[in-house]
Amino acid sequence: MDTEYDVIVVGAGFAGLTAARELAHAGRRVAILEGRDRIGGRTWLAPRMGLNLELGGTWVHWTQPYVWAELHRYGIGLAPSPTPERASWWNGRELVHGEPDELIALLDAPNELLTTRSREVFPQPFAPLASTAAADLDEETLAAHIAALPITDEQRTALESFWTLNFNGRIEDAAFTQALRWVALTNGDWKVNFEACATYKIQGGTKALADAIAADADVDVFFGTDVRDIRSESGGALVTDATGREIRATDVIVTVPLHALHRIAFSPAPPAARTDAVARGQLGLGTKAWFTIEGVQPHFVALGAADWPLNFLQSEYHHDGKTYVIGFGADAHAIDVTDRDAVQDAVSRLVPGARVVETTGHAWVDDEFAGETWPMHRTGFLTESLAALQQPAGRVHFAGSDIADGWGGFIDGAIESGMTAARRILAASPQPVAARV
Ligand SMILES: Cc1cc2nc3c(=O)[nH]c(=O)nc-3n(C[C@H](O)[C@H](O)[C@H](O)COP(=O)(O)OP(=O)(O)OC[C@H]3O[C@@H](n4cnc5c(N)ncnc54)[C@H](O)[C@@H]3O)c2cc1C
Repeated sequence: MDTEYDVIVVGAGFAGLTAARELAHAGRRVAILEGRDRIGGRTWLAPRMGLNLELGGTWVHWTQPYVWAELHRYGIGLAPSPTPERASWWNGRELVHGEPDELIALLDAPNELLTTRSREVFPQPFAPLASTAAADLDEETLAAHIAALPITDEQRTALESFWTLNFNGRIEDAAFTQALRWVALTNGDWKVNFEACATYKIQGGTKALADAIAADADVDVFFGTDVRDIRSESGGALVTDATGREIRATDVIVTVPLHALHRIAFSPAPPAARTDAVARGQLGLGTKAWFTIEGVQPHFVALGAADWPLNFLQSEYHHDGKTYVIGFGADAHAIDVTDRDAVQDAVSRLVPGARVVETTGHAWVDDEFAGETWPMHRTGFLTESLAALQQPAGRVHFAGSDIADGWGGFIDGAIESGMTAARRILAASPQPVAARV
């Protein structure tokens, strides 16, 4: 490994890959240091149960400008998820079976009420604090707003579970602004937002897009490089990995998730607002399971109670006489998604009679390079933490989906923030070091 680069990028997820490509295109000498043995970060298309399955981030949408532009740039199309033919939901007393449109209708009026102020509070969704209304509401919880809605018990049960699904975590401390911010990004329409979250996959999988960006970036990538220390020094920064290997660069971009940031020591010590934000963390600490059930079943969705180990199921493929299903739950430690019996118990509550054959998934929350699934913020995050987390410390810059301005928590937000960090470096020093000498 060379020890001198213009820019070191820590992390080869979408934020890191995008930043590295932008900098390489501008003539910078770039190294990506990645702790894992692969690119993609919290997206991971992996061969499991006889198919290539997305264990992490999956769905994209044309309302997401950054990822949409990347797909267009590399000529990559979409692969729609199947349209469900059946739906089941828990109404607080019993399981109800019906049409998918009935489930949407059950959620429609309460979601409209809940998010009616989304565009007023977030008139410019990519400038989340453009209106003082967002700051005024930032300490209010989503749970309190749901509790206060004049809706039926059945609607409330479904709405709580729906937002628990969106948060991939418990909603008691969830920021109401986070829910409004999501819906503002789809012009105030919660149904389009839901479509954005679970309808269109990337043709060839997320790997196709990550590979395309990586192939377009003439950079050195070092896998198995677990960065543990970043020290600012005159004219740049010194980065040290877990083996003590040192590497210097004029600028560093750190793209690690909020819940993995604590593993890196920074010198000088970060400001209190940053360390507080890292200590508080965020709420997306749930799980995503893949499992197969016996037989070619009609495609379905199912919404259980918010506190069930798997509270949402969506069937995705038919293959080899089985139906492949994705499940989400709010608490990664409430269910081991690789334990067939545990998944069978959870599934039986929502699809009685279904026989689970195999299960798989990745323990993102226990993964030291992630520590979380997709970031969903607590109260106060926008006003107290976002700007502090985005703020560079000298030549050390920060990026990642967790701290995006727009689609934070999504692949789109990762790409946005990687662009921003790269542009900031290029604006500060338009010439590469080699050209300046
Ligand atoms: C289960 C799940 C489902 C999701 N579903 C969707 C979805 O459908 N649609 C969507 O848009 N988004 C979804 N997301 C979110 C999306 O995947 C992420 O927001 C996005 O991929 C994050 O990209 P990133 O580059 O910011 O971070 P990451 O992808 O986490 O990349 C950070 C990289 O840094 C590396 N790293 C961490 N610490 C160190 C260290 N100390 N040294 C070196 N390297 C380090 C990591 O290994 C990782 O490769 C989902 C995420 C999960 C987990």
